[in-house]
Amino acid sequence: MGKLALHWRILLGMAAGVIFAAILIQFSWGKGFIVDWIKPFGTIFINVLKLIAIPLILASLIKGISDLNNITQLSKIGFRTLGFYVMTTVLAVSLGLVIVNVVKPGNAVTEDTRAQLMASYEKQAGDRITAAEKQKQAGPLKPLEDLVPENIVAAASSNGNMLQVIVFAIFFGIGLILIPKESAAPVKGFFSGLNDVVLKMIDLIMLAAPFGVFALLAAIVAEAPGTDLFIALLWYAVSVVLGLALLYCLYLTLVWVFAKRSPSFFLKGIIPAQLLAFSTSSSAATLPVTMERVTEHLGVDEEVASFVLPIGATVNMDGTSLYQAVAAVFIAQTFGMELSLGVQLGIILTATLASIGSAAVPGAGMVMLVIVLAQAGIPEVGLALIFAIDRPLDMCRTTINVTGDATVSMIVANSIGKLGEPKPVEWDERLDEVI
Ligand code: ASP
Repeated sequence: MGKLALHWRILLGMAAGVIFAAILIQFSWGKGFIVDWIKPFGTIFINVLKLIAIPLILASLIKGISDLNNITQLSKIGFRTLGFYVMTTVLAVSLGLVIVNVVKPGNAVTEDTRAQLMASYEKQAGDRITAAEKQKQAGPLKPLEDLVPENIVAAASSNGNMLQVIVFAIFFGIGLILIPKESAAPVKGFFSGLNDVVLKMIDLIMLAAPFGVFALLAAIVAEAPGTDLFIALLWYAVSVVLGLALLYCLYLTLVWVFAKRSPSFFLKGIIPAQLLAFSTSSSAATLPVTMERVTEHLGVDEEVASFVLPIGATVNMDGTSLYQAVAAVFIAQTFGMELSLGVQLGIILTATLASIGSAAVPGAGMVMLVIVLAQAGIPEVGLALIFAIDRPLDMCRTTINVTGDATVSMIVANSIGKLGEPKPVEWDERLDEVI
């Protein structure tokens, strides 16, 4: 196992987790055993990843921005990043709409299955609708208002407020650029050191990654709902996965055309982050690893990665936006509703905004889907229809969300001449260093 590349170790961990759980759930005590004795290790693994998200954002963003030396450079990166993020999200929603209109997965759901699904998942759907209700009642400028924290410690105290921490870090970094070099030097030195410490912590966490994903996948398999309703939703799931797969191809093409890097180079560099995104269903928890892979293995300059990736993890969710478009039209189809072109164009706008507003945590895309449904006049209780299969689809869309962020970071870096050759530290050297 000593020489195995990281992604193989993670894949082995995932496969072992699935097989282990599949065998154990055959016994009456199996599920309980996994929930009590295996799942907690998965939770610990996710917690450790989340634990370093805020220190990482603060250290890398402040260091990255202060390294830029001038505000013009910052605004150049900023505009390009946001431009690419919005463009890829709109493309993703449009792709989702085309697929769901061609495949028409809603037509495959019988009257009986619909009633069964509604009865089984009404309660959980209700909880999501209540959560979304709160967001809907807010005024139109509330998201903007929420960007600015009144207290940085309070903002950093909850991982749900990552955008506020990003705003603080950018503001702080700008201040650091503008003060005289002598006063800035010790502060920059501090954040640069902090950044190195956090990166080393990520190395340590990655040692545990194969075991972490083992526990996560074992718990997912043990707690999965029955498969019969699952199969009824097959065409819906196929539509989402097909859309995500096409989006994936689009990213590879974008990287090839705009960053001049081959698909295999990109895949080899980013795959461990994708596997973690798949296992954790959280872009936020994956962020530390995405950051490391993109800088060390894809050659993106740290200044660019530290700006583009934390923002991307919180606002750029192409996979989520595509899923929201497919899910909304699927629900309308099962209710026998015809959606006009105008309504579908409206979905492009609301799904783009809803994906930006979704938190980078498991299941968040489904909460925000309620807003897309409400805007399009589709019954919100329809959420119950797609509940059974949401977790596996969440795993897939999170993988795409993370891949989209990495793609944009390469394109932005290349556009300003900051995409270099990767300097990967061989995994074995890393192990030797750590142990
Ligand atoms: N789990 C997704 C993410 O963290 C968000 C979603 O639910 O779509 O990127």
